[in-house]
Amino acid sequence: MVSLLVQKYGGTSVGDADRIRAVADHVARTRRAGNSVVVVVSAMGKTTDDLIRLAHEVSGKLPPRELDMLLTSGERISMSLLCMALADLGVPAVSFTGSQAGIITDTDHTKAKILEIKPERLRKAIADGYVPVVAGFQGMSTDRNITTLGRGGSDTTAVALSAALSADFCEIYTDVSGVFTADPRVVTKAHKIPRISFEEMLELAASGGRVLALRSVEFARNYMVPLHVRSSFTWEPGTWVTEEDPQMEQPVVSAISHDTSEAKITVREVPDKPGVAAKIFLAVADAGINVDMIVQNTSVEGFTDISFTVPRLDIAASLAAANRIAQEIEAKQVISDDQIGRVSLVGAGMKSHPGVTAKMFSTLANEGINIEMISTSAIRISCVMRQDVVERAVIALHEAFEL
Ligand code: ASP
Ligand code: MG
Repeated sequence: MVSLLVQKYGGTSVGDADRIRAVADHVARTRRAGNSVVVVVSAMGKTTDDLIRLAHEVSGKLPPRELDMLLTSGERISMSLLCMALADLGVPAVSFTGSQAGIITDTDHTKAKILEIKPERLRKAIADGYVPVVAGFQGMSTDRNITTLGRGGSDTTAVALSAALSADFCEIYTDVSGVFTADPRVVTKAHKIPRISFEEMLELAASGGRVLALRSVEFARNYMVPLHVRSSFTWEPGTWVTEEDPQMEQPVVSAISHDTSEAKITVREVPDKPGVAAKIFLAVADAGINVDMIVQNTSVEGFTDISFTVPRLDIAASLAAANRIAQEIEAKQVISDDQIGRVSLVGAGMKSHPGVTAKMFSTLANEGINIEMISTSAIRISCVMRQDVVERAVIALHEAFEL
């Protein structure tokens, strides 16, 4: 049986000429094994970062339409070079920009969402025996401008194309060999997870796991595209991200993630009455800021404190929005704290195993670590703490839960 698979190669996988030739060789092998392949590439190495730096050097404004036009050029470089390397191996290949590949997005420059894919050109290329090589991270908006999908967006391109082409699965090639029980740079005993559910992967991607872009995992879950995350340096089998297998007992804790890229904003002495929280978070949302955890204390004499976490990059904008509302609702003051970190336990088996929370808290207590905020979902527990104790917490929890 011939399968159709989508292979996505990240920035380090196509980082230089040697890497591009190695990728071409792997694509050629995959074809020889009897598969049809569609390739999605990221920009080479740090190209996207370099282009952003360059943009800052010429402009303080960075018009979003022009920024998108600039950034999409990074993926054009890798797609055309890969096609040239494939030509040398006798593999017929043809490159497509996102727009040529039929990827239609909304008009939200720098973080556009894919609305629709019209993959006719890709289908024809596959039927004619070509390997389509598609520029990741980009599309064309409904008003015909070039858009980008947000940092790390090539994963989303790959998964969305897999869904549109009904590919058998999607391989995500990167510089790590899969999804680990914790960041191996922090926990030396961390090990690769052979298989994880979409739901668990979503929680990991949302809580600091850096292996897959969150949006790509949402797409994979919604369209049930099995993902295989693996290394383009060792080519060994990696981690499969698939539907939960109802036959199998789920691990109580599958992985521990951590994130030190957020800050905490606290609005102090908020009058405790209906509508104040709505006002605060409406203002923050209007500023385009993604709020993550929220904690409201019980009120004392009609006043309460509300804390929430935001990306550190958005501290200034969050403070501005919160201060405006604080004046309006007569809260006492707004403060920010950028020295926080978050540690999360993720596991599908938590649903049916009580006691995970207690064990997490007592492990942290034994380490003398103070918990500042807590949030949970059905399969995740997260604690906010001081940034400088995060690594110690991750190591202790990895040990305590015997991962
Ligand atoms: N090149 C883009 C970035 O660096 C997209 C990607 O790598 O997925 O964010
Ligand atoms: Mg990248």
